[in-house]
Amino acid sequence: MSTFIDLGLQEPINKALTDLGYETPTVIQQKAIPQIIASTDDLKAFAQTGTGKTAAFSLPIIELADQTNANTQAIILSPTRELAVQIGKNIEDFSKYLPNLKVATVYGGANIEEQIRKLKRGVQIVVGTPGRTVDLIKRRALKLGNVQWLVLDEADEMLNMGFKDELDRVLEATPDSKQTLLFSATFPREVEAIANNYMSNPVEITSGQKNQGSDNVSHEYYLVNEKTRYPALKRVADLNPNIYAIVFCRTRRETQEVANNLIRDGYNADALHGDLSQAQRDSVMEKFRKKNIQILVATDVAARGLDVNNLTHVINHKLPDQIENYNHRSGRTGRAGNKGISIALVSKKEQGRLRPIERIIKKKFEHTPVPSGSEICQNQLFHLIDKVQNTEVNTNQIESFLPSIYDKLEDLSREELIQKFVSLEFNTFLSYYENAPDLNNLSSRENSRGRSSNENMTRFFINIGRKDKLNPAKLIGLINDQKIGDKVEIGAIDILDTFSFFEIDKNFEGDTLEAFAANSPDFNGRNVNVEVTKTDRGSGGRGRGRGSRRDGGRRDGGRKGQFSGKRRSNDETPSKGFGRRRSESSNKKGQNSENFSRRRRRR
Ligand code: AMP
Repeated sequence: MSTFIDLGLQEPINKALTDLGYETPTVIQQKAIPQIIASTDDLKAFAQTGTGKTAAFSLPIIELADQTNANTQAIILSPTRELAVQIGKNIEDFSKYLPNLKVATVYGGANIEEQIRKLKRGVQIVVGTPGRTVDLIKRRALKLGNVQWLVLDEADEMLNMGFKDELDRVLEATPDSKQTLLFSATFPREVEAIANNYMSNPVEITSGQKNQGSDNVSHEYYLVNEKTRYPALKRVADLNPNIYAIVFCRTRRETQEVANNLIRDGYNADALHGDLSQAQRDSVMEKFRKKNIQILVATDVAARGLDVNNLTHVINHKLPDQIENYNHRSGRTGRAGNKGISIALVSKKEQGRLRPIERIIKKKFEHTPVPSGSEICQNQLFHLIDKVQNTEVNTNQIESFLPSIYDKLEDLSREELIQKFVSLEFNTFLSYYENAPDLNNLSSRENSRGRSSNENMTRFFINIGRKDKLNPAKLIGLINDQKIGDKVEIGAIDILDTFSFFEIDKNFEGDTLEAFAANSPDFNGRNVNVEVTKTDRGSGGRGRGRGSRRDGGRRDGGRKGQFSGKRRSNDETPSKGFGRRRSESSNKKGQNSENFSRRRRRR
């Protein structure tokens, strides 16, 4: 196995790489570094993001650049500011033991005067975005007459973003004698045209097959419809408590909407797209890099250049318009030797778009069922148990409390203690997911239209409400505790201040009354009383009967069917009551999981 020294790099560079934890060169580095050091031939490299391509072109340039000469000797063009900054930072890190080697990063949206001053002081390597680079050339602040290396990084993306004219302009400003190094993950016709027009007999190297995705990424697809797309996304997050993912969307609007929904539902998420100011984008990216954000919802362009290696998942909320972009997306995971999963949420109509992508990535998508509630519960439980197992106990801090705690729990067996502790953490979550619908059943009414008929439900009055600290999840738990029957359907729930309503499958009307009467349950110190509410369904409102009298004409208290009429389908409608106060009755979609995740993530 070769080392960086074997590839022809000097010791100060090797030392800097060791500091960065680079032990062995990656495939693309093994191929590109000696080639660029030994030959002035142009180079065309097929390299995915995450293969180590930045070091592959930067290291030989750093090795060969004349540090005693302050002229600009290398210009590296990158499609986005973020990527340019990343490359500039990498070059600074790689050359930290070469104090006379200077690099400047130039990009739009930042003070041009400062960039000009830096260029004037003399820099051997300039990293820039196409637009700002051209601007600086026009202002004669950037002189490329002595350039020996021109790097076009992510050339496909630069062309996608419409930088063809800028590329032409930069190329014009450089001498013919330069060596052009073109790095691209995909080689559509436009990139081939650039290679043909601007390079002479380039040497071709590849870190894998042309346009092919990383071997470390597995590709899955979930079949969804427009109703289940978002719940399916949440299930991916709930199934993977340690998820660290980018959710890709096609438009800024879609991005913001998905992010808003996830944030509203308590997930540790944020949006990244072009409508945000540069400062906002920087802040989001920084938080994501530090893992303060677990799920980044982003457009393709905004996510470029975001250098994170340990993403667990890439999720295609919608497939990209240009199929080549799928490769870019999935290439964000499975980097630097890690394994990753790329998930595409596709409708039946979109399914046909998977084939052309498979041809590009030379891999098959695996059809994976949307995780079920019980799978999620199991994963979450084991995650919790792992956490308990790995928790370090600081005996010093708790020592003084332990005797009285042991005392208090003395009567509980080990098993009881474990059961209680798991229930404490998990009751709400379990009751939420217990009867969650199968999101794979796309033809069912609940999934396709999110509504079920109330004709088949009986509406009950219950004498406890918000003031008793009741919330929908607790009510579901209470109903389930009565063991009314297997798979009894629970419909709409309305929690009011001192009493509430719930719906149950009509067939279980008698069983429900009997069960509550027989068990005479107690809720937070109150005897629970349940009665059938006589509502006039035909009128479309609740103008008569017990419900209307009791709720005193509240407008929001009586909406029917807001839980899609099926508590068995409580997936999209989890309880708001778990973690935050809402004055509304539990009538919005997305409630149980929302609050579960909020609780969970706050911990
Ligand atoms: P890139 O493809 O240049 O975006 O690099 C992907 C990630 O891999 C970056 O975070 C690099 O810091 C890291 N990396 C690149 N080369 C190596 C190497 N030889 N050993 C370890 N990490 C590397």
